Amino acid sequence: MKFNEVLKNLSTYEAGKPIELVVREYGIDPKEVVKLASNENPYGTSPKVVAKIESLVKNMYLYPDDSMFELKETLANKFDLESKNVIIGSGSDQILEFCIHAKCQKGSNVLMAKTTFAMYEIYAKQVDANIIKTESSQHNLKEFSDLYKKYGADIIFLCIPNNPLGECLDKNEVYEFLRTIDKDTLVVVDGAYQEYAAFKDENKRICPKDLINSFPNAIYLGTFSKAYALGGMRVGYGLAKEDIISTFYKIRAPFNITTLSLAAAIEALKDEEFVQDCIAKNFSEMKRYEEYAKQKGFEYIPSYTNFITILFKDFVSKTVSQKLLERGMIVRDLTGYGLNAIRVTIGSSEQNTKLFKLLDEVLEELK
Ligand SMILES: *Cc1c(COP(=O)(O)O)cnc(C)c1O
Repeated sequence: MKFNEVLKNLSTYEAGKPIELVVREYGIDPKEVVKLASNENPYGTSPKVVAKIESLVKNMYLYPDDSMFELKETLANKFDLESKNVIIGSGSDQILEFCIHAKCQKGSNVLMAKTTFAMYEIYAKQVDANIIKTESSQHNLKEFSDLYKKYGADIIFLCIPNNPLGECLDKNEVYEFLRTIDKDTLVVVDGAYQEYAAFKDENKRICPKDLINSFPNAIYLGTFSKAYALGGMRVGYGLAKEDIISTFYKIRAPFNITTLSLAAAIEALKDEEFVQDCIAKNFSEMKRYEEYAKQKGFEYIPSYTNFITILFKDFVSKTVSQKLLERGMIVRDLTGYGLNAIRVTIGSSEQNTKLFKLLDEVLEELK
């Protein structure tokens, strides 16, 4: 069958491997499998959210409130904005898709860092847009500027902090850069890990209200999948000026998140203490990874997120991650991004101890 021509050059996004796969392929007891591959919150969902969902399970025959009134209100209050500045998506991934469909068509230019969230490129290619990438892997705004002056762009994606590398731009440099951008270019600030960055360093904190008031062509994206521990519920949001949000509504399908997801997100926002506690633990556990890397002589990228990227010289990352997988430890190999590196989600203390032990074993075997 003939399909849309643009799909020929598109590869399928490879998500982090699920626990079920390791159980099936290597016969490992599911209780023994540790997944540190998709940057989920290792402490699980807040007990308050779990209790709320349990009480609502019987409601799943009902469509959700399509206005998403309460969630939008709660988010608007949290960020000191109005409901008309908020749109909810099935993960912030869906908002990324709205951005592309609202701004791009064949021949549009989309500017991004060389090594960044893979979905930017995939969505852009779906509409046959041109992808323009910086030469440096990590975000370098000087290179962004040069490329922008040379080619212009319909959309610029800034991943702050960046997945899969973990580095993070300063708020001030982002603002300085935004001042030079034409009002007709949509600038997407993907804040999937902003909660972590803001905790670690106040200079990295981007206030969505300040951002969109200063730059009406910017949109801020947030997600409940990482710090808020709701990856399985698929809820994300976009915050922008009303003209952007109302345009996105033309693209959105009705009921784009579930009744239970909606309730979970609202409840999660009521338990900020849980979130902050998880973030604090994240950074104290991350120190163990930094120590481990130093001790082994591995280079790592200082991270403002809940994962850390470790680069190898004498080992092949693909082999290392495969051998970890066979032992029931799932990490993310970054070979597909052109890097000899692995990205490891910072787990609970126990999970991290296990990772170090298994990695020691694997490295010893590969020596
Ligand atoms: C995880 C992630 C997202 C979106 O995740 P959803 O689960 O779709 O909300 C967006 N951007 C980056 C950089 C991410 O790492």
